[in-house]
Amino acid sequence: GLGAPDKVVRTTCSYCGVGCQFDLNVKDGKIIRVTSTPDAPVNGMRLCVKGRYGYDYVHHPDRLTQPMVREYLLKGEPRKDKKNRGEWVKVDWDTALNIVAGKLNQIRTESGADSIGVLSSAKCTNEENYLMNKFARQVLGTNNIDHCARLCHASTVAGLAISYGSGAMSNTMQDIVENAQAIFVTGSNTTEQHPVFGTMIRQAVLKRGVKLIVADPRRIDLVDFATLHLQQRPGTDIALLNGLMNIILQKGWADEQFIAERTEGFDEFKANLQNYPPEKVSEITGVPLEQLYQAAEIMGTCKPMAVFWAMGITQHIVGVQNVLTLANLQMLLGNMGVPGGGVNPLRGQNNVQGACDMGGLPNVYPGYQPVASDAARGKFETAWGVSLSPKPGMTVTEMIPADGEGKIRALYILGENPVMTDPDVNHVRHCLEELEFLVLQEIFPSETSAYADVLLPGVTFAEKEGTFTNTERRIQRVRKAVEPVGQSRPDWEIISDLARRMIAVSNRKPAEAPQSGWNYGSPAEIMDEVASITPSYAGVSYERLDRGENLHWPVKGYDHPGTPILHIGQFTRGKGLFSPTTDVPPAEKPDAEFPMLMNTGRVLYHWHGGEMTRRAKGLMEVYPKPLIELNPEDALRIGINGNRMVKITSRRGSIVSEAWVTNRVPEGMVYANFHFPESNANELTIAALDPIAKIPEFKITAVKVELA
Ligand code: SF4
Repeated sequence: GLGAPDKVVRTTCSYCGVGCQFDLNVKDGKIIRVTSTPDAPVNGMRLCVKGRYGYDYVHHPDRLTQPMVREYLLKGEPRKDKKNRGEWVKVDWDTALNIVAGKLNQIRTESGADSIGVLSSAKCTNEENYLMNKFARQVLGTNNIDHCARLCHASTVAGLAISYGSGAMSNTMQDIVENAQAIFVTGSNTTEQHPVFGTMIRQAVLKRGVKLIVADPRRIDLVDFATLHLQQRPGTDIALLNGLMNIILQKGWADEQFIAERTEGFDEFKANLQNYPPEKVSEITGVPLEQLYQAAEIMGTCKPMAVFWAMGITQHIVGVQNVLTLANLQMLLGNMGVPGGGVNPLRGQNNVQGACDMGGLPNVYPGYQPVASDAARGKFETAWGVSLSPKPGMTVTEMIPADGEGKIRALYILGENPVMTDPDVNHVRHCLEELEFLVLQEIFPSETSAYADVLLPGVTFAEKEGTFTNTERRIQRVRKAVEPVGQSRPDWEIISDLARRMIAVSNRKPAEAPQSGWNYGSPAEIMDEVASITPSYAGVSYERLDRGENLHWPVKGYDHPGTPILHIGQFTRGKGLFSPTTDVPPAEKPDAEFPMLMNTGRVLYHWHGGEMTRRAKGLMEVYPKPLIELNPEDALRIGINGNRMVKITSRRGSIVSEAWVTNRVPEGMVYANFHFPESNANELTIAALDPIAKIPEFKITAVKVELA
C-alpha cells in the first residue's frame, strides 16, 4: 500500500447524519486512507462504505481552485443573453468578492433586501451556517434563508413543534439499542441511508430480541430482521397509524397516566380515531387485518418502543400530518421522555441538524428563536447592531420559482445543487436561467454552476476546522487534515470576507456590539459567539469538545452536561398536544395515461446529487450508473429484453435507465434515485408542497414505464 501516514487526524464523516468519527490518515499532504477508532462515541470501529472509501473526492482534479466570474461582469456590462451567461474568466479573490458585494448592494438598493435569497448548506459546519444566517439577516437585511432541510425534514420540524414545542431526535441511538423493547421503523431505509444505525438496530434484534416492526412499501433490507413487515400502499401512512392506534385504544394498551398528566387534546383525537376501524384501514392501506392486530399488540405490550422515520414519512403533501400522527402514537403509548423510547427522525446530511440549529431557516434565528417574536428579534438587533425584519422569509421551494417570476433577483448558494435535488428540475432550470445574478460557493463545477454568474471555491470537510451536529443533536469536531487546494478558502473565511466588503460599500452599517463584527480569527471564536446568543448551545466550546466531552443539545451552560434524552418530565411547550389527523390522497394518482407510481430516494453507494460520490473511485466501482427498481410482474408485462433499458415518463419529463428487476418494489411501483444527471428522478417529480412545511411530495409521482 501507501505505507505509514505522516499524521492521523480525528474528524467527523462528511456524509450522513449518523456522524461517525474516524481518522484521516495523511501522507505528503494527501489523505491515503480512513481508519476507524474504538474511541468513536457511537460508531466505535463501525463505518459504512461511504465513510471508509468515499474520501477521494477531496483530491479530485475537478475541484474548483480559483474564483471565476462571467466575462460580462468583468466588462461591467449587463448580461445580454438570457439563455447564455457567457465565458468564465478566472480572477483573484479581490476581484470576485468586490463584484459580488457591488452587485448584491446594487440589487438591494434598487429592489429591497427581500429580492435576494440565500441558500445555506447542510454539508457546511455550524460556524459557517451561523455566518450565512448572520450574513442574510444582518448584512443583507432579509430572512430569505433556507437550505435542503426543506426537502427532507421540514415537516418533522414543523410537526414536532406543534406536538411538543420543538422538533429533533429525542433519544440517542446508544440509549435505544440498550433500552428499547420494540423498534418501529417507518419510511426509513436505515441500512442504506444511515448504515451504522442500521447495523445497531440489527444487533439489538439479534442480541437482545428487540421486536422490530418495519412499515414500508418497499421490501428494504431491514425487513430480513423484522418481526413484522407492514407493506402499506404509498401515501396511506395516516390511515395505517390511526388504525393501529384505534386497536391500541380498544385493547386497553394506551398509557392512561401519561395521557392524563402530560398531554392535552386527547378527547378530540380519540373521537377522530373512530373514523379508522381496522377493516377500513386494511382496505385503504392494503395491509392484512391480522398484521394490523399483530403490530398493535407488539406496540402495546413491548414498551418502551422507539420510533424511527425518514423521508418516507416527510416527503408528502401530508408530511406534517404524518409527523403529528407519529407524535400522537408515542404519547398514546407513553413512550416519550423515557430511555429506549422517543421520536427519532433520522436526519440525512452530516450537518442538516446543525444547519437548522444555526438559523439556516426563514422563520427562526439560531436555536429556533422566532424572527416574528419581538423579544427574540430585539435580542438579535442588539447583538448584531442593526434593525431586523420581522417577516419570515421564503423557503427554497418558494425562492426558486420566484427567480423565474423576477421576484428574486439574486441568489447566493452555499454548497447546494438544486438542478439535481429539487423537484421538477426542468422548471428549476428554467427559473435559474431567468435569474439575474447567481453566486455559487462550491467545491466542484456542479450541474447548477451552468446557471451561475460567479463561482467561489470553498473547501471540503478535510481542509477546515469546525463542528457538525449529528442527528442525535451531538455536536462534534471537524478537524483540518490537509491544506486547501489551489486558491480555495474555508467557507467561513469567504463569508466573513464578503460580509466585510458588503458592509463597506453599503449604507447599512451595524452599530458597535460584541457580536456585530466580522473579524473572526478562527471557527472557535465563531462558536463562542453562537454560544453567547443561542441558549441550546450556551455551553458549547471547542475546549470542551476537544477534551472529548459528548455534548447533546441543549447544553445550557459551560457546566451543563448536555441532554441526551429530550422531554423528560415535560415537553418544550408544556403539555404534549394530541392532533387529530385525516388521510388525504396524494397530489398525483395513477390513471390510464400514467398507471404506475414512482418512489424516489438514494442508494447506499451514493450521496444526494452525487457530486462527491460520483468522484469517489471506490464507490463508482461498485455503483457506476443509475438503476431503476422494477417488479418482475411489471417487467414481464412491459416485455423487458436483454439490455433492460426502460423509459419512464411523468407529466413533467422522462428519463431512460437500466432496470433492476427485483421484488424489493411491489407491483405497480418503480424506485429511482437522483444521483446521476443522465437519468435523474427529479426530471419527473412534482413540486406539490405540504401547505405548512412547504416540502415537496418527492415520494409519489404518477408515471408510465415502457421499453426504451
Ligand atoms: Fe459516514 Fe454515515 Fe457511513 Fe457513518 S454511517 S461512515 S456517518 S455515511
